[in-house]
Amino acid sequence: MILIRVRNKKIRKHPENRVFLAVLLCCTALGAYLALTGWSPDGTTAVLPAAAGFTHSGSDTASAAPDGSSALSDVKKIAITFDDGPNADYTQTLLDGLKERNVKATFFLLGKEVDRYPEIVQKIHDDGHLIGTHSYEHVNLNNLSDTAAIEQVNKTNTAIFDITGEYPEYIRPPFGCWKCNLDYETTMIEVLWDIDPLDWKTSNSDVIAKRVTSKVRENDIILLHDASESSVKAALKIIDELQNQGYMFVTVDEILFD
Ligand SMILES: [Zn+2]
Repeated sequence: MILIRVRNKKIRKHPENRVFLAVLLCCTALGAYLALTGWSPDGTTAVLPAAAGFTHSGSDTASAAPDGSSALSDVKKIAITFDDGPNADYTQTLLDGLKERNVKATFFLLGKEVDRYPEIVQKIHDDGHLIGTHSYEHVNLNNLSDTAAIEQVNKTNTAIFDITGEYPEYIRPPFGCWKCNLDYETTMIEVLWDIDPLDWKTSNSDVIAKRVTSKVRENDIILLHDASESSVKAALKIIDELQNQGYMFVTVDEILFD
């Protein structure tokens, strides 16, 4: 299972990943094609097991599901993520908006805020969102000793585990600065982003939303913060606009590993 194979590796979600995934996809497609055409490495003809019940129509176009809806592979996926929470003033409003729209998001939490507002963390978890770590005190891990950096991660993970019963598997380091030695000390998967509208720099939610919707692409990860009214408003506008365009919001694990 691919998740196991990559768990001990750092996966940076950035454009190079697209290349890797494209190559992986091509190899998989080629392998499937060769299997279907009966090619085998030693030149013999492979026989497809009848039990598989597989028929090949010769058409490579995506087929519709039996109920007439589009095949799942046709869905345009996108992930929306929120850093720096939980926030006593804005996270609940965001959670209400997400629930109304049936959207699952990813939250990268700060350990010290987790300790202050455990009830909000519980709500995030209960609503089915993915929870990741953002460090304990919003520090640049790169500026710390290995021991101090690991403590930032572990302290946050423990705080989250004490509330949700689950250890986070994903981390977004503050400022996107990872500390290389943490690769050896943690199996956490680093998640960066594709679109950063710098929502913390403006209080104009229309501007924030436009910065995202004007350049978003399928499988992008959007970075926002549930730390201001304008960011939360912008998030909901972005969701409404992109859902109208046919995007489906998923948690980051579905972008990275599907
Ligand atoms: Zn942050």
